[in-house]
Amino acid sequence: MAKTKQFKTESKKLLDLMINSIYTHKEIFLRELISNASDAIDKRHYIALTDADKADEYEILLSFDKEQRTITITDNGVGLTEEELINNLGTIARSGSKEFQDGLESADIEIIGQFGVGFYSAFMVSKKVTVITKSIHSDKAFQWTSTGSSSYTISEVDKDDYGTTIILELRDNNDENEENYDEFLSEYKLKQLVKKYSDYIRYPIKMDVTKTDYPDDDKKDPITYQETETLNSMIPLWRRNKNDITDEEYTEFYKHQFNDYDEPMKVIHTKVEGITEYTSLLFIPKRAPFDLYSEKYEKGLQLYSKGVFIMDKNKQLLPDYFRFVKGLVDSSDLSLNISREMLQHDRLLKKIAQNVETKIKGELEKMLKNDRDEYNEFYKIYGINLKYGIYDGFGINKDKLQDLIMFKTTKSEEFKTLREYVNDMKDEQTHIYYASGKSKESILALPQMDLIKDKDYEVLLFTDDIDEFMVNILMKYDEYEFKSINQGDLDLIDKKDEKKIKKLAKEKKELLDAIKDALSDRVKDVTLSKRLKDSPVCLVSGEGLSMEMEKVLKQMPNANDAKADRILELNPNHELFQTLERIHGDKPDAIKRYATILYNQALLIEGMPLEDPVEFSNLMVELMVEQHKKAE
Ligand code: ADP
Repeated sequence: MAKTKQFKTESKKLLDLMINSIYTHKEIFLRELISNASDAIDKRHYIALTDADKADEYEILLSFDKEQRTITITDNGVGLTEEELINNLGTIARSGSKEFQDGLESADIEIIGQFGVGFYSAFMVSKKVTVITKSIHSDKAFQWTSTGSSSYTISEVDKDDYGTTIILELRDNNDENEENYDEFLSEYKLKQLVKKYSDYIRYPIKMDVTKTDYPDDDKKDPITYQETETLNSMIPLWRRNKNDITDEEYTEFYKHQFNDYDEPMKVIHTKVEGITEYTSLLFIPKRAPFDLYSEKYEKGLQLYSKGVFIMDKNKQLLPDYFRFVKGLVDSSDLSLNISREMLQHDRLLKKIAQNVETKIKGELEKMLKNDRDEYNEFYKIYGINLKYGIYDGFGINKDKLQDLIMFKTTKSEEFKTLREYVNDMKDEQTHIYYASGKSKESILALPQMDLIKDKDYEVLLFTDDIDEFMVNILMKYDEYEFKSINQGDLDLIDKKDEKKIKKLAKEKKELLDAIKDALSDRVKDVTLSKRLKDSPVCLVSGEGLSMEMEKVLKQMPNANDAKADRILELNPNHELFQTLERIHGDKPDAIKRYATILYNQALLIEGMPLEDPVEFSNLMVELMVEQHKKAE
């Protein structure tokens, strides 16, 4: 006689929630049921170690029936008693595993699942679920049936072997909601799901599959027949001993798992024991994924719990600046439960994420130290991520990353680290100098480089848009501040000369003011330069936003009108300066034209767009005509 029972109310609510929202991917029902089957076999296996009972071979059988629209999963695990059926399948969030584990004296058994809800995922795809089971602790077998609404029924049935069979009667397709459950009724789909989610389950997952033999003789029809196939490979590569894994095996695994046709640049395989236990297998791809810098790119690591796949791209496990890393984390401490899709809150994951980050960083440092060629290669492809990492979050990660970034310099064709730059600094040098530009040649040609070259100081070449922004966050390396060759003050001259210039600036105040007035709101100031030697003028920016940064910001999609303060610096030792003085004395009105020309020239040298190219061109033409008239 079948008995009908009600689900406990809280279970009912949870059931609704679960069916309708919690799991975003319906297909995971199979993973859940297979994982339960595997647990049940674990339990039986464990008991068999001390008791007499034992199955010949532990296995999980999978089959489907297209006509009946059913999927059947059978295991020869511990099975469930009537009481367990009521307690474990009648109450969601009640842990059978937990009670089982508590009942055991030995603490070292691994049983996944602290709070069970996994089983109920079956209702996401089924309108009716039947469980036929015989516990190794009972000589009676029972059938549990439910449509997932408010009640379930239990009745006694006949069953010879111990274990559990679960029959899912799939829901009807719903064209309106684009729900199609037929897709699960295919060999191909089931195979694929086993491969994807349960490949590394320790017991064979078997299914009868259709095979076709094509006779050599074309006239004969192909012969089709059924053959039982094991769908899962059973041992995850990452759980094997590192020393037993060949490079080829890593490569094959990487290619298959992460859809790359190239071998990885670097493999990082780590097993961590202690309070937090996990294994991670990480790869740095040889080529940056083509969409790495697009918004669509999703960073993250795959997450497994004891070989059972939980999720594909856990973002939390990778900081943004290591977004290019591919790989997985497997931890036996992760519970395979409802929260698997809410794992972001898991403290364990935070801890693992920290370790993963430290590990990647450590490997990069090792590479930098031991294999410079490889690091250079790495840096060319991914270096910019590290720079963004320094810039991001107002520099909270700068200490972690500053020793991993490198630059080419005015003295080196090869990348140099900041440490190397500082080690090579001149004794009296007080700053780390940098300059933005397209090439070493164009930077060396800048007027601002006059005195720097004279002093033979090395200058970091900034070539990425992010560089100046990053350095504004970094500010210092060791005790040395970063200094742009064309921004703010440059302390390149000694105190005596500095005094001289100050004095001179006072004397020439009238001229400087006249030029400043002539350029009105175009420049913030006109000063006598402390960085020029041979060149007549240069344009620099004040502290804060630089002209390079202004250029970058202007290119942004939502460009703002942030503008760098411009300061026109004149070289008092240049012939031109005397010429300007003379003009100012003779024809004060003409100074405006000269000032405008000089300013535009300085802009050109800086690679900045001219504000009014027509005006500049007209002034030049006027000047030429005048010169020619004079000569006549
Ligand atoms: P969990 O497995 O996380 O505990 P489930 O809702 O998936 O939660 O399952 C509830 C309980 O039902 C399990 O703890 C287990 O005791 C029992 N159970 C589920 N499937 C099986 C099975 N195939 N064989 C034996 N017991 C099972």
